[in-house]
Amino acid sequence: MDNKLYFYNTLTRKKEIFSPIAPPRVTTYSCGPTVYSYAHIGNLRSYIFMDELRRTLKHAGYVTESVMNITDVGHLTSDADDGEDKMQSAAQKQHKTPEEIAAMYSAAFFKDLERLNILSPEIIAKATDNINEMIAFVQTLYDRGFAYETDDGIYFDISKFDGYGKLSRCNLEDALAGARVAVNTQKRHPADFALWKKAEKNHIMQWQSPWGMGYPGWHIECSAMGKKFLGDRFDIHTGGVDHIPIHHENEIAQSESLEGHRVVNLWMHGEFLLVDGGKMSKSLGNLYTVDDLVSRGFAPLAFRYFCMNTHYRNKLNFTFDGLNGAQTAYTRLRNTISSCAAAPKADSALADKISAQKSAVVAAIYDDLNYPLALGELWTMAKLAACREIYDAAVELDGLFGLDLHLPLDDNTANDIPENVKAIADKRFAARQNKDWATSDALRAELDALGFTVLDSKTGYELKKK
Ligand code: AMP
Ligand code: ZN
Repeated sequence: MDNKLYFYNTLTRKKEIFSPIAPPRVTTYSCGPTVYSYAHIGNLRSYIFMDELRRTLKHAGYVTESVMNITDVGHLTSDADDGEDKMQSAAQKQHKTPEEIAAMYSAAFFKDLERLNILSPEIIAKATDNINEMIAFVQTLYDRGFAYETDDGIYFDISKFDGYGKLSRCNLEDALAGARVAVNTQKRHPADFALWKKAEKNHIMQWQSPWGMGYPGWHIECSAMGKKFLGDRFDIHTGGVDHIPIHHENEIAQSESLEGHRVVNLWMHGEFLLVDGGKMSKSLGNLYTVDDLVSRGFAPLAFRYFCMNTHYRNKLNFTFDGLNGAQTAYTRLRNTISSCAAAPKADSALADKISAQKSAVVAAIYDDLNYPLALGELWTMAKLAACREIYDAAVELDGLFGLDLHLPLDDNTANDIPENVKAIADKRFAARQNKDWATSDALRAELDALGFTVLDSKTGYELKKK
């Protein structure tokens, strides 16, 4: 079997043979959530894609060093520079501090990742923990003439970077025409973007900088954290397709201007999840979270299966009918496979067929993460005949799928934990994030009294029935 990996590069618009900078190490950066609200299932589709990629790299023998950031400052209500800071406005609406908002929604996000079997990246980087690196980055760009100061911040001058627009394939004129009429008349070009914003007195989150009190622009966060944790060149950068034209274009402009060379080798983007054929929005009442799916009787992993049935570069239309179909198929698949645990051994002809199917699964995934095709090959394998080898093959392949294929469905204890217990555990996790140990201990005692043990990890927790 050809064990090379092929990935589609947004930058070149081509599927390329993957060739890491310093194998077996593979460095990846994924734009993480802005933790001002619960992640919706569209956001989570993007992280299922990130997980498909990381599991594939690991399966191919690479050692992943993956960063995902947590944006807890600087992301304004528009991806460009308009509007309020999303964290600040959520804090004001909910009468909480931005730190409390960040802790609460980060905890919920990591719980979602766990329920969806999304492996946590090796490095989780909070924007507010890396402000000094961002200031240093901006200062260097400023010193080298790529940035200029206005009354309200430091801006990147896109005319100073020749390659502006190369990821989205729009030229400078398009970028200028596309940018909204400049709110800030001191900007040299309407599409210049903020690296650093000077803070008004009433702005909650602000830090000392060479330009007075202020806070970072959203784009600089990823450039600075990518550089800090992965260096001046790294293998793969991922995100949703909405990031191509502004956020990633701006990251490229900042990072390549600073380093004087290409920084990211491979740009990969996940397509959108649509709901009922359109955009998800609160006002349409069609913005769903994992909790919404669970409360309607769906297993979180059925949503994972649903996503895996569509290639990450294709749009996926979410409907409850579609999810229902996925849950039925997924249940059948798991029960077929897990029932093979106690089945007799295969004869050699059957064993050969299983082994060929296993290779077909891997080949599909190595070809730009073709999980829908791989699921088809897996089904073909599962239906061959009941034998132990199918179970063994599925256990091995589950490293790629993360679907708990080998477990009978009722072993999926995550769904047996009552909502009130989960709510206490979430509260406790938020308290820990805030280093409020007294509350955390009191909540642990409550969980204990209800018959649950909680195991902490760096990025989340696990609940077990005692
Ligand atoms: P945000 O928290 O807004 O920064 O978004 C987190 C991630 O979710 C980003 O990678 C976005 O590109 C992605 N995303 C947002 N909406 C959708 C959607 N409807 N479908 C898929 N990905 C999405
Ligand atoms: Zn980013």
